[in-house]
Amino acid sequence: MNDFEAFIAAAARPMDILAGFNRQAVVDAGMKSTLAADGEKAREVYFGPTKFSRKQAHAVRIARETGKSLDQILFIEQQVRSLGTEKEKWTIRLALLSVRGNYETLKRRAKDIVPEPDTPAPESAVRFGKERKGKRTFSATGDARDIAALEYALRQKLDTTRPEGPQMYEAFHDLLHKDGAVADAVPRPLVNIPLADYIKILGGQGDDTILGLSDGTTMTGAEYLTHHHSKDLEVALFHPQAGPVNLYNTKRFANKKQRDLARATLTTCPVPDCRHAADNCEVHHIEPWARGGPTNMNNLSVLCRYHNRTNDDDPDRHNRGRIQVRDGTPTWVSPRGTPVPNTTHQYGAMHLLFGK
Ligand SMILES: [Zn+2]
Repeated sequence: MNDFEAFIAAAARPMDILAGFNRQAVVDAGMKSTLAADGEKAREVYFGPTKFSRKQAHAVRIARETGKSLDQILFIEQQVRSLGTEKEKWTIRLALLSVRGNYETLKRRAKDIVPEPDTPAPESAVRFGKERKGKRTFSATGDARDIAALEYALRQKLDTTRPEGPQMYEAFHDLLHKDGAVADAVPRPLVNIPLADYIKILGGQGDDTILGLSDGTTMTGAEYLTHHHSKDLEVALFHPQAGPVNLYNTKRFANKKQRDLARATLTTCPVPDCRHAADNCEVHHIEPWARGGPTNMNNLSVLCRYHNRTNDDDPDRHNRGRIQVRDGTPTWVSPRGTPVPNTTHQYGAMHLLFGK
């Protein structure tokens, strides 16, 4: 018998292998540690001490009778691992050992024999991922009937000669924009353009100029000119030292112009490394309204919901840092007093216009 034949013969008689299994020897032979660990566990099941000694002896006998190979035994142990009681494990193990046939047959039959683990239903939620090469991913978990209805809607008019995924995205896109479903709810993003760049773009030389929008995305000067110029232009005035133009307001909540200017000043939450786009932020009073802080531009900043809650509003608290105006720009200042800009999407107007 050559080495290969010996290997096949041994793997086909796993009970003989497991009886003398030595975990350390497997590791020393350079094999992967999971094989050593799984083999050790299987040895304990079939040859270790147990109060189910009759079932154990029965299992070894059936395994030999049905010609279980080593990988089938390890598969069976993997299947019974998450079951509740030892008794239940033995019942399912014996049922799986009794299956005659090869590895694929065992895998197929296991689907009927092994009960589904009793895990709680996932929570309904929507998650949004980061941008990568101009694309983003979101996922939604929800009531099975809602998701089935969405799938049904997206599968209408599928062209069988083309792949399904991209077609369903097209249908999804149409659904989002039908009757302004999403467009109406989305605030119109502001584009901040320094004057020098603006002149270049209008002259048709802005192809390489990257513009930052207050919704956390970017566009080139050329895209701006083709799609947005004269339609969506919003003008925001900025003073080199004072920052956005001051509009006095005696109301607690910022008006639309103030909210627009706040998200033009910064296109993201000002806390370092925070990725929340200004359009998804709240408008924060730097000197709190409750302490007499006015709703003026020089006292307002965008701040994401989370950082608005953790901001050190109380001047005596030095815990999580606070937002202060530095050179006309709302800036996060550490508990020790060091200002740190958020550089993740640095297209805020004061940065672009005046390099602040
Ligand atoms: Zn934030």
